[in-house]
Amino acid sequence: MIFSSKNKKYFQNAKRFTPGGVHSPVRSFKGLSTTPKFIKKGKGAYIFDEEGKKYIDFCQSFGPLILGHQNPKVKKEMKKALSRGWSYGACERYSLELAEYIVQHIPFIDQIRFVNSGTEAVMTALRLARGVTRKNKIIKFNGCYHGHVDSMLIKAGSGLAGTAEASSLGITPNCAQDTLIVDLADREAVERCFSEYDDIAGIIIEPLPANNGLLSQDVNFLKFLREITKKNKALLIFDEVISGFRCSFQGMAGKTKVTPDILTYGKIIGGGMPVGAIAAKKEIMENLAPVGGVYQAGTLSGNPLAMSAGLSTLKIINDSKFYLQLEQKTQMIANALEKWLNENHEKIGSEYKVISSDSLFWPIPLKPEERNPQTIDELPKELMKPFDIFYTALLKKGIYLSPNPYEVGFVSLAHTEKVIKDLEKRL
Ligand SMILES: *Cc1c(COP(=O)(O)O)cnc(C)c1O
Repeated sequence: MIFSSKNKKYFQNAKRFTPGGVHSPVRSFKGLSTTPKFIKKGKGAYIFDEEGKKYIDFCQSFGPLILGHQNPKVKKEMKKALSRGWSYGACERYSLELAEYIVQHIPFIDQIRFVNSGTEAVMTALRLARGVTRKNKIIKFNGCYHGHVDSMLIKAGSGLAGTAEASSLGITPNCAQDTLIVDLADREAVERCFSEYDDIAGIIIEPLPANNGLLSQDVNFLKFLREITKKNKALLIFDEVISGFRCSFQGMAGKTKVTPDILTYGKIIGGGMPVGAIAAKKEIMENLAPVGGVYQAGTLSGNPLAMSAGLSTLKIINDSKFYLQLEQKTQMIANALEKWLNENHEKIGSEYKVISSDSLFWPIPLKPEERNPQTIDELPKELMKPFDIFYTALLKKGIYLSPNPYEVGFVSLAHTEKVIKDLEKRL
């Protein structure tokens, strides 16, 4: 076999057995002039493909691996858990310990319920908000991603303020009608929704929108959402699936001191295993079954192996110094990438700015001195073409970014200064 064609061969084969060859669309490298790499193993900040090529990994499983691959402490705890058994469908201590640890360290939540993904967490949070308020409509922002929940795969419609239509096939018009879409940072649009509709159960937002690039919001906008929901007896949901345990241990809610009624978690909370969670004050949480009338369940929820990965990860990162160091390293990485992008702007076809926030970074085709975008309307129209050029070039150099121009880069504990030196050498 020709050595360099292994990744391509596996991808050809994968396309026979699964749609597009992938189990989640973004992995398909759609729109890129290169095909996906098949990853054989990961260690620290690095991943290795089936051809033996080594990459610095800035995707880190799209965020969960805040300690990098195979953190020794997490691995040790997981092995211990594994040696006892890995699923009972019964009460067990790992899920108790993780719940207790989180509630003890996040003052604005009393209770938490574990599920298996961020999508599931959002689905339950929306049902809970509707169950508590006995109202139906949810306000969602253009440019925020909340997983593949039917009522969240919705885009702005052409009619009145807030009207919406499905952004995927297979979603009923009735479902789409229960979601109102408004632009980020647009207070008037939110006010208009509340004056036009009286059955708004809640507002859901990524407090740090990080799924359409980085669209950082003013804290005052989050405060405004807190006030208007309170005034209208609706609930505020912070989807902290990316920002939770990343922007600070207490997520954006802790960092901004804006306290939502319901929070959703995912990604880091499972330390790389499939875990999501819904959290809130007890008065809200106890509306969930078996105490309350909002039904929710899961055969594998609170799986002890996943709980041990989450617990050991959270214990390591629960330290303000950890976050400060991660942020400093992220700025160094963003600077190095921005410098390289702008030295090569003629080949790439655009100047670039690399925005960073906490341990996330995002290359955007703007002049470095231009303003950071806050809404999707402010994004440059052509992202794919220049992205393809630099993405392919970086991949050749052994630098692996999330394979889509709208995805952010993730920095972990394993991205040490030595790794940053390696990055600078590879650039
Ligand atoms: C990743 C993500 C989700 C979906 O989580 P999955 O585990 O992929 O289902 C939901 N909301 C936000 C903000 C996310 O970043």
